[in-house]
Amino acid sequence: MKNTKLPFIFVFDIDNCIIGNIKWPINESIILDEINKLNKGKKKLDFTNYLKKGLLRPYFKKFIKFIKKNYDNAEIYVYTNSSNYWTNNGLVSNIEKALGHKFNKPYYSSEYSYHNMQKSLSNIYNNMLINLSKKYPLLTNTKYSNYVFNNNLIFIDNLPYNVYDYPFKQLLCPSYDWSIPYDIQKKIIKNYKIDKKVFNNPIIMKKMNDLEMPYLNSNSNKVAKLYHKYILLYQYNTFKNIKKDYYFKNLITIMRKYKIKNFNQNNIKKLNNLIN
Ligand SMILES: [Mg+2]
Repeated sequence: MKNTKLPFIFVFDIDNCIIGNIKWPINESIILDEINKLNKGKKKLDFTNYLKKGLLRPYFKKFIKFIKKNYDNAEIYVYTNSSNYWTNNGLVSNIEKALGHKFNKPYYSSEYSYHNMQKSLSNIYNNMLINLSKKYPLLTNTKYSNYVFNNNLIFIDNLPYNVYDYPFKQLLCPSYDWSIPYDIQKKIIKNYKIDKKVFNNPIIMKKMNDLEMPYLNSNSNKVAKLYHKYILLYQYNTFKNIKKDYYFKNLITIMRKYKIKNFNQNNIKKLNNLIN
């Protein structure tokens, strides 16, 4: 029988859409990269526990399950304005581990966006078609590829008007800002089994200072130790945000209730009105 399948395409922004505030893991990754360079090491960034603790948006896992079950041939992508390096070296692989789901490749990053950093759905869709048309031969025909773009594709992002070319394809979601500041030095020493002496190295010290991340080393006196404690506590109290979030849970409810069978312009508009 001829293959007449067509996909549904879900595209998710990452920061503040499917995860909260990524600042601490990013800083951890910068420091770990520097230490790897110094030690010629290959320690891999791991923040899956932090994701499970709350950085991963609640109910996102449920939402993925829901779309896989309710939309035939769901193809799921991420599209972030982060750098290509960070997207492919830590960010997405950690999310996948915590989520228990692998996104389609490639992971789209800022290289696909316009110079002003607004996102481009035509850029990523043209790229998707290269791979998807192997699985869905009908997509080689413009009639069908246009149909899928117009009716079966949805892009979810927390920044209003973040899509330059096809703004009506965006479902806007409220920003998810979960954050728990932590002691990066302590985590690096403990989790990656790194010798604490590395924090005597001027390159590492400078990086920690640039990132405003507190640390101790063999030169730290009693006052420095007290101050260190104070800064960690200050950061914790200032940037801790563990507000509950039900966005994806509510979205499932609405999509069920209004029997959203496709993602044409009207349905996306409807979802935007109902959820925001
Ligand atoms: Mg975002």
